[in-house]
Amino acid sequence: MATTAPGSGTLPDTSRFRRQAFVDGAFADAASGATFACISPVTGETIFDVAACDTEDVDRAVAAARRAFDAGTWSRLSPRERRSVLLGLADLIERDRDELATMITVDMGKPIGDAKGEVSGAVACFRYFAEAVDKVYGEVGPTGPSVVSLVTREPIGVVGMVVPWNYPILMPTWKLAPALATGNSVVLKPAEQSPIVALALAELAAEAGIPDGVVNVLPGMGETAGQAIGRHMDVDKVAFTGSSEVGKFFLVYAGQSNMKGVQLECGGKSPNVVFADVPDVDRAVAESAEGIFGNTGQVCSAGSRLLLQESIADEFLEKLAREAVKWTPGDPFDEGTRMGSLVDETQLERVLGYIEAGTGEGADLRAGGTRAREETGGFYVEPTIFGGARNDMKIAQEEIFGPVVTAIPFGSEADGIRIANDTIYGLTSGVWTSDINKAHRFARAVRSGTVCVNCYDRGDNALPFGGFKQSGIGRDKSLHALENYTQLKTTYINVLDD
Ligand code: NDP
Repeated sequence: MATTAPGSGTLPDTSRFRRQAFVDGAFADAASGATFACISPVTGETIFDVAACDTEDVDRAVAAARRAFDAGTWSRLSPRERRSVLLGLADLIERDRDELATMITVDMGKPIGDAKGEVSGAVACFRYFAEAVDKVYGEVGPTGPSVVSLVTREPIGVVGMVVPWNYPILMPTWKLAPALATGNSVVLKPAEQSPIVALALAELAAEAGIPDGVVNVLPGMGETAGQAIGRHMDVDKVAFTGSSEVGKFFLVYAGQSNMKGVQLECGGKSPNVVFADVPDVDRAVAESAEGIFGNTGQVCSAGSRLLLQESIADEFLEKLAREAVKWTPGDPFDEGTRMGSLVDETQLERVLGYIEAGTGEGADLRAGGTRAREETGGFYVEPTIFGGARNDMKIAQEEIFGPVVTAIPFGSEADGIRIANDTIYGLTSGVWTSDINKAHRFARAVRSGTVCVNCYDRGDNALPFGGFKQSGIGRDKSLHALENYTQLKTTYINVLDD
């Protein structure tokens, strides 16, 4: 049965979607019985209430995770056995791709085509880490003939995960896949804006054969459930993605509790730098548009600062404004829509507030700037372009997390590099030039975890992703991510003479 929206659209049937916490292999209400409203940004309507977990639920989930870890039902399986279960999980996610994508679109408003792509990304990520884990070796130390020394990697234990809403299945997966592959137990708190698909993922993990207690998912608020995970004395590690502000809280929580390790993937204000010798300007325009309007700009690595060399700045902005039309918001359930809604009303107000600030600071509004599709009840905003901005403006320094690009003109190569680095963040960057030496000089000088040359925001499961400066600590993806969820053990074996 379709749910009738207050506006012109309708949402698909959501009656099958899970809304309770998943703890120790079963769905259950929050211990307090509290719930919170799950609102779809597609139409602005409340679809149902979801369990609002708190400290007591975190205690219960951590205890279950610890029991499972100590019992060894998952942690002591051979890597090959875990590989096989995780490959099975990837197959189940693939089987349910359309349903999972529907959950994502209902919950956070991204276009259904993008949601399907996100689910496929999660499948690929589980497969990557499943395949990786029985192919990594420990070390034998160079300690001489009378000693056999081994350096092995062991799972850390109970890993807490607190994740955002912008990629509701992919962000948990980037952490779950390597953590589970290496034998840890997990307590995951999805964002309050997008809990549904994470609960479905927990159910699929159980169906795939991951034992009870190994994967626990607790919907709830950051300040309660999230903080309780961060401060828990029996959580051995926290992996977080979200704002730098909240990332810093997790460092405090760790310092004030048990010194747990903290991996952080935080915000960005990434420079996308176009030199006058850009090899293919139309391609640069198209990728720059995708880099800021894709996922409605709610991407940590969005190319939100567009640095344009002065001689091409006007031409580039004219083309970008024409390209932006292709990103006009539409119905997220229409396969042809490229840009859906923002995640919620708070985010809409925040983005409109930044647009007002940009105009107030004297930046030149070249496209967009207003709310769209208001009649649907959902939270849509036009793709927005500011030209002629300065890097000290609020819209150039703060993470807007919406479809708003701040274009800043620059003169020399040195200027471009200086402005690119003039930010507290260091997640991603892009450079467009025909000169390979200039590209290399830029790549060496820029302080960011990823640099893209003649493209923007590319990635691969085989490559690490994470930030310099206040964009984070540690890396998701690639074999390096295994380091987040394992610790080194040195075994020193004295070989006695006859
Ligand atoms: P947050 O950083 O606030 O949220 C990320 C996660 O942390 C959520 O699960 C959230 O819970 C939780 N959390 C929030 N406050 C606390 C706390 N005090 N202690 C423990 N956990 C907490 O991001 P928001 O969703 O609020 O978005 C705000 C801004 O953050 C965005 O506009 C953007 O600038 C940035 N952001 C960056 C992301 C990235 O990928 N780098 C992703 C998302 C946001 P809850 O669900 O209750 O909010």
